[in-house]
Amino acid sequence: MSTDPLARAWVEVRASALRRNVQTVRDAVGEDVALVPMVKADAYGLGVAEVVRVLEPLEPWGYGVAAVAEGLRLRELGVRRRVVVFTPLPPDSYGDAVAADLGVAVSELDALRRLRDAAEAAGRPGIFHLEVDTGMGRAGFDWRRREEWGPRVAAFAEQGLVWEGCFTHFHSADEGDPGSVREQWKRLREVLEDLPLPASGVLVHACNSPGALRCPEYAADAVRPGIFLYGGVAGEGLPAPEPVVAVRARITLVRRVPPGTTVGYGATYRASREETWATVAIGYGDGLPWALGNRGHALVRGRRAPIVGRISMDLTVLDVTEIGDVRPGEVATFVGRDGEEEISLEEVAELAGTINYEILTGLGGRLPRTWRDDAGY
Ligand SMILES: *Cc1c(COP(=O)(O)O)cnc(C)c1O
Repeated sequence: MSTDPLARAWVEVRASALRRNVQTVRDAVGEDVALVPMVKADAYGLGVAEVVRVLEPLEPWGYGVAAVAEGLRLRELGVRRRVVVFTPLPPDSYGDAVAADLGVAVSELDALRRLRDAAEAAGRPGIFHLEVDTGMGRAGFDWRRREEWGPRVAAFAEQGLVWEGCFTHFHSADEGDPGSVREQWKRLREVLEDLPLPASGVLVHACNSPGALRCPEYAADAVRPGIFLYGGVAGEGLPAPEPVVAVRARITLVRRVPPGTTVGYGATYRASREETWATVAIGYGDGLPWALGNRGHALVRGRRAPIVGRISMDLTVLDVTEIGDVRPGEVATFVGRDGEEEISLEEVAELAGTINYEILTGLGGRLPRTWRDDAGY
């Protein structure tokens, strides 16, 4: 637990668990499959600089990001490996991508034109991964129309662009039935058979975390895990990751209140007896979902304390009546383990009506990320 007197609330991150989750993915797909950890959105909210510092010694093939600026940040951090931007780029950002030696995912011929022009202007290679839309519907060349675009893509590759990869993205790998994954994989295979691929070959990849864990037979040349590495359950019936993240905050005020006392905006909770309330220095301004008001819990001294009233921007109140003589300065855990009790990311997401991804990426910039490397949690 944090001993920093300035820390009102913080995110604790376990490097050892992150490493073990990487190994679990590697064990699932085999050591010959290249690893492309997705580190977009500040590495799912954990902090990309530290995440990359942990991942670098594990020698991934490269990293995946969602924005050119995220790729530039990796270069600033000293990353020399391959970096691929996996979303369609704004039309005027190809020059920056080329200058930083980023690979870009392309979904249309115009993207290839822009990449070629930027590469020519810079006198540097333009490197692309061809995205095939096999059902996701948000980006990629339509798998059904490959006869139209296939030869034209190949022509770009002959005009000096480097065709580094070819990939698709599964829309439902997290769901229990792998039928749609099979279908999307089949569509990608059909495209690969018909395409005039460069003789030197391209890196073929399709699997996100649930894809890699559920269907390692489709791992192809590389996998692109994200959520699982960061401790999020990747889908129904899949092995659980080791928890990586804990969200903790300090209790800063404890009061005994008489029956009838109300708490929070809207006065939505009223004490039914004499109760002890602990005010905790964390709120929705830190990414704690507002929806947990009157529904969620925090752990105090290894026991569950209900959240009472609405969550404020900076404060949350717990009913600690059953827990005993709680003191200001003690720590409340909103995600993670305390003693024998644990609140998972998935429990919080479920209560808030969202997904574990949104909880992680929503953790606020106001929370310092405290990295630990031990087994304690
Ligand atoms: C975010 C992303 C991933 C990682 O997905 P997870 O479900 O977090 O493992 C993989 N591929 C692409 C293209 C992505 O955008």
